[in-house]
Amino acid sequence: MELTHFDSMITRVFKYFNRKVPDSQQLNLWFNKVKFIPKTAIPYIYEFITDKADSLPSNIPQKLKTGWGCYLRDNPRMIARVHEKTPCNDCSGKGIIRYRQLDELYGKPAETTCICGGCHNWKRHFDDKEGFAVFTRRQLENQGCAIWPYSDYPAVTSKKALVDSVGMEMPF
Ligand SMILES: [Zn+2]
Repeated sequence: MELTHFDSMITRVFKYFNRKVPDSQQLNLWFNKVKFIPKTAIPYIYEFITDKADSLPSNIPQKLKTGWGCYLRDNPRMIARVHEKTPCNDCSGKGIIRYRQLDELYGKPAETTCICGGCHNWKRHFDDKEGFAVFTRRQLENQGCAIWPYSDYPAVTSKKALVDSVGMEMPF
């Protein structure tokens, strides 16, 4: 999504809960955490927040990520789309790469995922890659990131869990 989509949704959420809309600096901080979410999910996430919460959530980005996860579960078309799998050395044909990087904000390592830039296998999971980070293995390694083989992730129990994790920071 773009910043304007985010701003207008958050403004509506804060007005719904009768709270003062945060300043643009705060909105920018939050936006950087959730910009990977495609704008098609925004109406769903707005309803998710205003229907499910009794009051304004304290951690706005986290709530948006939870809403995005529910959107994917309710829209299996987004994750179950069948595309022919092509061999790829970057991602082992998964279309998604998990890696560990240094978090700019906190200066500590964080695990996250991106869409593989070396193949089109991501189409098996997503309609489009708008808003997602897209890297090849070489680009990640050049940035000093450690690439983790899919099978070495004990936290990832299924392909769906991996898909849900794209763009999210994983504790480890
Ligand atoms: Zn690939």
